[in-house]
Amino acid sequence: MLQKYKTDGKSTDKVYFFIPFISEIYIYMIQNLLNLFFPKSCAGCESFLLSDEKVICTQCRHEIPLTNHHNIEDNEIFQKLYGRIPIEFGAALFYFHKKGIVQEMIHKLKYKGQEEIGRTIGDWYSEVLKDSKQLKNIDYIIPVPLHQKRLRERGYNQVEGFGKALSANLEIPYDDTLLHRKLYTKTQTKKDLLGRADVILTVFDVDFSEKHHGRHFLLIDDVMTTGSTLEACSRALLKIPNIKISIVCMAMAHS
Ligand SMILES: [Zn+2]
Repeated sequence: MLQKYKTDGKSTDKVYFFIPFISEIYIYMIQNLLNLFFPKSCAGCESFLLSDEKVICTQCRHEIPLTNHHNIEDNEIFQKLYGRIPIEFGAALFYFHKKGIVQEMIHKLKYKGQEEIGRTIGDWYSEVLKDSKQLKNIDYIIPVPLHQKRLRERGYNQVEGFGKALSANLEIPYDDTLLHRKLYTKTQTKKDLLGRADVILTVFDVDFSEKHHGRHFLLIDDVMTTGSTLEACSRALLKIPNIKISIVCMAMAHS
């Protein structure tokens, strides 16, 4: 901390008043300089980010297609899973279109090591969902798990950042130990396999104890397409007595 001193007997308070302001300007200038030499690009459109933009640029943020599912109880996620698994509430933040901004972001999150994209989407969705009455009684946030082999290959579960941001902002515990994936499936074959009723029951399993009985779980995933993965996870969770399931995804496929 700077020490206050006197020169000719007059206080130098005025100078100190400007110091915090000046240091903010310096930080802003240094950030912009760093940006100039190591520019960060938008996860949606690759244009360079300004120092006050995080992960995606302002234009992409405005153009990204939002579902507004949190305002519609009988929404597309709910309808897609209706009759397959009993859910209390389902929602996705974005629509996922081929060659769209969301596809670009999810691709970078999954295959280019850009984990911070998940946290940014989680912060965004927390802001949307923070007053949602449907999420008031959730006990645990449960990510769709990766197989250990896939986790080693990628180095992280792509939904972890999303889930941990929701957990921190909404103050709900995050639990990635309850549900696990038993079967390793290659991406190409995953769709066919998960479509088969006998396989759905064998891909995921739960390690639960009495503390999990009667709880309400919020299952989270990146993109919902057919809903088979979420159905398979839910069937494993439903081995726990008297539970409720809600589902939140970053995006849902939309044609
Ligand atoms: Zn952009």
